[in-house]
Amino acid sequence: MDKKNGTVYLVGSGPGGLSLMTRRAREVIDNAQVILYDQLPGEEILASLPEHAEKVDVGKFGGRHVREQEEIEELMVSYANKNLRVVRLKGGDPFLFGRGGEELEICRAHNIPVEVVPGITSAIAVPASVGIPVTHRKYASQVTILTGNEDPAKEESAIDWEWLARSRGTIVILMGVKNLGKISDVLILNGMDPETPVAIIERGLRPDQRETIGTMSTIYNQSVQRGVRPPAVIVIGGVVSLYSDEHIIP
Ligand code: SAH
Repeated sequence: MDKKNGTVYLVGSGPGGLSLMTRRAREVIDNAQVILYDQLPGEEILASLPEHAEKVDVGKFGGRHVREQEEIEELMVSYANKNLRVVRLKGGDPFLFGRGGEELEICRAHNIPVEVVPGITSAIAVPASVGIPVTHRKYASQVTILTGNEDPAKEESAIDWEWLARSRGTIVILMGVKNLGKISDVLILNGMDPETPVAIIERGLRPDQRETIGTMSTIYNQSVQRGVRPPAVIVIGGVVSLYSDEHIIP
């Protein structure tokens, strides 16, 4: 290892199994003394964590907060201050909705060296696994990735739904299952074509992956009927017409 002690590694484990994790991620995980993890990396990766490391489940899965973010940050800092190599393991990429940015700030504030290990994000890889490219010259020259965690009915929403409804690009929503009904209402209300194709991909790149394909006006009811659950990626836009049920799972 190039850094010996008291370092925090913000590590993205990629969207699914071991084969989509970077070599650097594997390296820092295997050399870690402490690993703070949640369930998002998935079974295969969690089962591969080294025995010698102290492993702490700080899991927040599907919106259920087992430990608050503040506690996670305190833990991270206290282990690093004991001169330990600490891995904060996250699904996908650590800087896309993983609160990695906040954890980076905390480390900086405590003068703890940090290495960020990027990961393949589910936002792009999960649609790709069913043949959906997030951009395509014919369908979309821009893509917006957003969190569906925010209640779109909220006045002071941080997301510009009005703009989104009229934007011509692909929309990728993470953490959007719970609010899907409200999200589709708000998009249609603001002018999105109700016939716009939508795909929901649950547990992408995992053995039990499942897709639901519909349109903006049908997708919410379909999701209720099929009991769609997080984690799932929702893709909205013309690129969804390229969907193929021949899964590309490495
Ligand atoms: N940092 C992660 C995203 C964290 S937010 C990344 O880059 O992928 C958590 C959300 O990511 C989930 O609610 C879900 O919307 C999405 N997600 C992550 N992995 C997924 C997977 N394998 N299949 C489907 N959705 C996934």
